[in-house]
This record gives sequence, structure tokens and C-alpha cells, in this order.
Amino acid sequence: MQKLSRFWTRSCLSVLAGLALVAPWQQIAAQAPAAPPAAAAPPAILFQGVKIFDGISGQVSAPRDVLVRGNKIERIAAQVAPESGAQVINGSGKVLMPGLVDAHWHTMLAAVPVATAMMADRTYLAIAAGAEATRTLMRGFTTVRDVGGSSFGLKDSIDGGLVPGPRIFPSGAMISVTSGHGDFRTFHDLPRQIGAPASRFDEAGDSAIADSPDEVRLRAREQLMRGASQIKLTAGGGVSSPNSPLDAVTFTEAEVHAAVEAATNWGTYVTVHAYTPAAIQQAISAGVKCIEHAMLMDDATAKLIGQKGIWLSAQPLPDELANAFPRGSVEWNKAQEVLAGVGRTYELAKKYKLKTAFGTDVLFSAPLAAQQGALLASLTRWYTPSQVLVMATSTNAELLKLSGKRAPYAGELGVVREGALADLLLVNGDPVADISLIAKAEQSLAVIMKDGVIYKNQLAPRAGS
Ligand SMILES: [Zn+2]
Repeated sequence: MQKLSRFWTRSCLSVLAGLALVAPWQQIAAQAPAAPPAAAAPPAILFQGVKIFDGISGQVSAPRDVLVRGNKIERIAAQVAPESGAQVINGSGKVLMPGLVDAHWHTMLAAVPVATAMMADRTYLAIAAGAEATRTLMRGFTTVRDVGGSSFGLKDSIDGGLVPGPRIFPSGAMISVTSGHGDFRTFHDLPRQIGAPASRFDEAGDSAIADSPDEVRLRAREQLMRGASQIKLTAGGGVSSPNSPLDAVTFTEAEVHAAVEAATNWGTYVTVHAYTPAAIQQAISAGVKCIEHAMLMDDATAKLIGQKGIWLSAQPLPDELANAFPRGSVEWNKAQEVLAGVGRTYELAKKYKLKTAFGTDVLFSAPLAAQQGALLASLTRWYTPSQVLVMATSTNAELLKLSGKRAPYAGELGVVREGALADLLLVNGDPVADISLIAKAEQSLAVIMKDGVIYKNQLAPRAGS
């Protein structure tokens, strides 16, 4: 017995010494081949002669020099003398703008077909999501707010330098009720007992079923423990879920409130998937701070969102969305109803000057994921190009601030100004004059920088050139 306890003491001590008091997952991130080793003075990168779209003013400035040191923008001036050892990028004739933010993205589910998402091996899904994360960054999206999906491991891999990808503000599993949006179980999985072992969907971590305030609180706290920067509930029916009618209000107010309490106590907030006035209004009275979609809202509900200062996270859904489902199926019909409401939602958002964020909500479609920039550009149906680009940069970054200290990245996002994080795009041309440039990232983006690291540089001298 004594021997055993000595063994445990020794093992525990050596384990603690080996870990240097960090958790195993932090160690994994620390071992990853990250950015170059930190030198005494971080290397400087100087963008020379770039016009600036700062993400706030909506204007493009006269040519300036922008000095990046480490992961921040250090100086912006008419001229900055290049210091020795600095990398100089000649940006003459180009526009420097903040990296784009997608406020409604599903890192794990965007680009794989629905059947694959449901059936494939988790390792395959993680690698596929990693590849899509790299493509997301190469489209100029340097930050995504993930509103449903087990993205924590991929986020750590990206942050640790294992795979290029955007910053992720993760929600973890979207929390739903039995039969709600996000419940992909079959009838064979029923009945479930409260307190029964988790289903394979719950274990995968993309969605979590909760049917009482206590279960909602538990599921919310599990996501917070994993590192969720906000909590996502599905407060009403959804298009792709087989058993949730669009008009259904899924949670009770007490259930939504349980999540709000857990999130608020943790310094962050709850956002809900909701289309209808009833689902939106109940969520607001339960203390929710952001509404996703709202495609079926009415005038009075829009007015309420404005009065309460709630965020609207809206998406310019493409017509192709309907074709993701067999023509005439329940899902296809639900998609028609939602698509018909897109224009009205934006009109109401403008009428009541709602705090409106931009997202895409691409699910289960690689071709649509590739359209991420084009979806942003399609907002010109309701906004000027300048307003569109402000929305996808500083406005979306404003929404991210609702996460408070649960925000995974310290520093200012979505703007080009001194002291802000260096997430930057150098555009071959002026995206305010021609927003279609954003849809053609491969040709249009000369440089993509995230956190001060260059991930793409068309202007770098090539071997033999
Ligand atoms: Zn979504």
C-alpha cells in the first residue's frame, strides 16, 4: 500500500514536472511548429505606398506606409523609413484592408456533404475541415465565428501553427431540444431517458440535445469548459433538420434563460438560431443578445430587436441553397420559405437601423463554401460596397467583442489602425470601387496576413524570376 502511494506520488510529481503545470492539450499546441521563434525584437514588415480601407470610415485613403511588427500594426504614416532587416512590400496601386470576418460559419460542416458529415470517420472529418479552414483563410477570411460544430481541436491546431486557417470564435455544439434544429437522430434512437448516456451525435460534439433547464445549463457549461467564446441555441425550427417545423418554438423561455444565466456568469452571451417572431421574441425576453437569421420576422419584431439593442446576424442566402435538397421535399419547401424572407430581413434591418452582422451559414457544400466572398459581395443588393465591407470587418468585430474575456484572441480585430492586430489583405485594386474583387480572392488578394504572419504573397520574388 505504502509502495503504491509512493509510486503515485512520484508519478504525479514527475507528470506535473513534465507538464510544467500546463494541461495536455496546451502542451500539444506548444509543441506545434508555430510562427518563427521569438527574437528580441520581432521582425518588421513594411507595406509601402498602400491606400487604406480602414474598416470604419468606409473611405479609401491616400497612399500611406504601414509598419507591422510582431502580430500588431505598429505605425501608419505618410512615410515610414524601412529599418534594416524589415521585409518591404511595395503596395503601390493596391488597397490594404482588414481581414474579413464571417460571423456565421460552421468550420466542421461547411464543405462536406451531409451524408459524409453524419457517417464518416471523425479523423477524416477533422482533416477535411482543416483543408477547408486553409481555403477559408485563402479567401481572405481571417476570422470566423463558429456557430455550431466541434471546432475546438481544429482551432487549437490552427492557433498552434499545425494548419493554416482563420481565427475561430467557437460555440462548440449547438444546443437543441429533442426534435429541434440540430437533432439528427433517427426514430430508432427514441425514447431517450433524462440522464441516459449521450447519443453518438452528442459525443461527436456538433450538436447537443437538452430537454430541461438543468440539461441546457449542463450542456452550456460543457461548451464553456471546452473554450466556447459564446453559446449557441436553436430556438426554433430549421431547414435541414428532418423533424423540426419552421414555425416551431423549440425551447421554453426557462430553458433559454438557463443558458443565458450560465453564459452571463461566464462573462459571455447566448446567440440563437431563430426565424419567426415568436421564437425571436421569446429569446429576447430570456436575455439572448444575438439573433441568427430572422428571415421570417415581422415589423414589430424588428422594432423590438432595435429597441433592445440586440444584434441581428443575417445571411444573404443564395438561391442554390434550395437545390441542396430534393425538389418538393419537406426541406426543399422549408428552404423556399426562408429564402423568400431574405430581402425583407435586410429591408427591416435597414429600416430599424439594427446592429447587423454578416455571415454566410454555408452547410454541407464545397461549391457554396468557395462562394464565401461572392456571398459577401451579393449584399450590394441592399448596401453600398463600402457599407458591405465595413459590415464584414469592423461591425462583425464589434459583435465578437460580446465574448468579453472569453474572446480567444487579445487585441483589436476588423480595423486597420495603429495597435490593432495585423490581420490584413492587400488587394490588387480598390474593393470599394469594384467589390467583385472580394469574390475572386485567388487573383485579387496579393497578400494575406493573419496575426502578423504572411500566408500568401503574390509579390514575393519567385525562384528564377
Ligand atoms: Zn448555421
